[in-house]
Amino acid sequence: MKTLSSTQNEVVELFERSGALLLGHFLLSSGRHSGAYFEKFKVLQHPEYLVRLGSMFGAHFRGLAADRVIGPTTGGMVIAYETARQMGKPYFFAEPDERGNGRVFGRGFSLLPGEKILVVDDVLTTGRSLSEVLELVERERGEIVGIGLLLDRSGGKVHLGQPYHALATLDVESFAPEDCPLCREGKPLVKPGSRKL
Ligand SMILES: [Zn+2]
Repeated sequence: MKTLSSTQNEVVELFERSGALLLGHFLLSSGRHSGAYFEKFKVLQHPEYLVRLGSMFGAHFRGLAADRVIGPTTGGMVIAYETARQMGKPYFFAEPDERGNGRVFGRGFSLLPGEKILVVDDVLTTGRSLSEVLELVERERGEIVGIGLLLDRSGGKVHLGQPYHALATLDVESFAPEDCPLCREGKPLVKPGSRKL
């Protein structure tokens, strides 16, 4: 059996090996700035890495009475699919609401009342998008029975109101834009995914 720390090392190694750890001055989706960005799609582009990560979630959540796996678009959706496939469960994804009210299930989908849900996502920074998914599941009268993350870059400082399991935890600083030292240095800010990168 793998220990927690060897899982952690393997996850960090997958990020490093696939060039997913970027250094510079980044605008995170949370609105905060950071000198490091984890481009999870550099990892997720490799189906064999995705299968390996799905098996880590499968091993951790084995025996969990989940009816379904849910992840937010876009990275979380891919991870939810693979985790669900390995657990032999259905999955679905939570999309941003077009009117800006958190997350929704689109495409005519809804949960059954009391459906037991495992929520998975990629990189945790402030927990905002994950909190939106948890709110959605609760609004839909689902029951959250587990939360899994590929990488918690907050060093375990995020409070979701319930426990979560991260395959790897790193403590990577991020800053409010008004007190970002990289801004003060005049380093150009990059929005990951844009052509400026
Ligand atoms: Zn900045």
